[in-house]
Amino acid sequence: MDTDSAEESPAVARRSLIADRLRAGSLVLAGGVAANILVDWRSRPGGLAPVAWMYAVSLTLVVLVQLATRERRLVPSMVPFAAIVITLWNAVFCTYAAFAPVPIAALAAPSILVVMSAALFLPWGVRTQTCVATVCVLTYAAVAALTGRPLDLAGAYAMLSVGAAAVVSCVGAYLVEQRGRLIDEQTASLREMNRVMREAGVKKDEFLASVSHELRTPLNVVLGYIDLLLDHSFGPLEPAQRDVLHRITKNASNLSHLINDLIDLSRIEAGRLKVEIGRVDLNTLFTDLRGVMEVLLNGHDVTFTATVAPGCAWVQADPDRLKQIVSNLLVNAVKFTEHGTITLHAAAAPNTMVAISVADTGIGIPPAAHRAIFEPFRQVHDRSRRVPGAGIGLSISSRLAHLMGGSLEVASEAGEGSRFTLTVPAIVAENGAPPLRQVS
Ligand code: ADP
Repeated sequence: MDTDSAEESPAVARRSLIADRLRAGSLVLAGGVAANILVDWRSRPGGLAPVAWMYAVSLTLVVLVQLATRERRLVPSMVPFAAIVITLWNAVFCTYAAFAPVPIAALAAPSILVVMSAALFLPWGVRTQTCVATVCVLTYAAVAALTGRPLDLAGAYAMLSVGAAAVVSCVGAYLVEQRGRLIDEQTASLREMNRVMREAGVKKDEFLASVSHELRTPLNVVLGYIDLLLDHSFGPLEPAQRDVLHRITKNASNLSHLINDLIDLSRIEAGRLKVEIGRVDLNTLFTDLRGVMEVLLNGHDVTFTATVAPGCAWVQADPDRLKQIVSNLLVNAVKFTEHGTITLHAAAAPNTMVAISVADTGIGIPPAAHRAIFEPFRQVHDRSRRVPGAGIGLSISSRLAHLMGGSLEVASEAGEGSRFTLTVPAIVAENGAPPLRQVS
């Protein structure tokens, strides 16, 4: 996993949680303001005018919060600033109320709005939230006491409402903090699981690399002795004995390829596989491959053609790895094509690339499996078809293509053949002159 995003994710998750709360809270507040406006307009002595500015400020806040949290983001530094502004605003308002010639109960609604704003708008954590709510309630109570008016029913109701708003504010903050803590815990445990899985992956790669290496050495010795036997170094052989030795060689070579693929895969996984980029002549490569295909298609009802479009013969690639990829694509085409044609073609592609395509008229691959075939050990066809292979050739080929600055893609439908396209950087001949050095 990317470390940066891993570090960022809890904070981002928490901020979007807070932003959600702000959006919902501001809408609740808008509803509260609307209800209060209605009540004040119908029954407030002196009408709506003296407190209209309070409502206007609150509704402006609602709009600002909706705009500020549109993308579910929040600036953390706004929290202490907002805490101070809200507390001061409430204190100024209460002081104004103490000297205003209106009954103290009439102050309740706007004052509750102040505390509710603190409750619903500002995600400042339980401690700060409790301080702000307590200061707001105490200021309101002090102002009520300072006016020297007796506490009537309306006043008691107002006091109760302000207190309730303060409690809501603290509970809201507590719930947000709890969810934040839960997110932190889950993130920590996911990170731990990720670390354990990465360690297990490294151990698996080391095991694969060492076992493959240990298998390859004795296998090469076996193949060497078979060569000596076939060369008559230990005396002449009967035709039947030669036949058996050829079969042993064929199977041992398959095993050797598989082991080499496993070693490549473990090197790629560990990021240790390097490619040596040089100039490669596709005409030479295709001539080699024509010879290989002649042997592979011997006895098959399949025709093979290999062509290079004019001006596309030279590419920038690791010659051995390029041959490995194209051979793998051709071997697959042979495995999955019973009748028809297999074509190998190189043509110019956009951005100074050359597209080397291997197309067959075989059984094809359903689009749903196009991703899976590039994953290690994935075979998408029925195993009862008994085609040899471990399902790692395409995953190695695709990663090698990327290491060489290119890509490997598939276009196929079930029953309609397949086309694999490998793109590699082209070498454009300068002033029509051929490239200087040939690697392959
Ligand atoms: P394998 O050794 O099994 O061929 P690959 O990684 O080369 O491993 O291929 C993975 C799978 O993709 C194959 O098992 C097969 O199911 C599918 N596949 C690859 N090439 C072709 C093709 N030309 N036609 C149909 N299926 C293919």
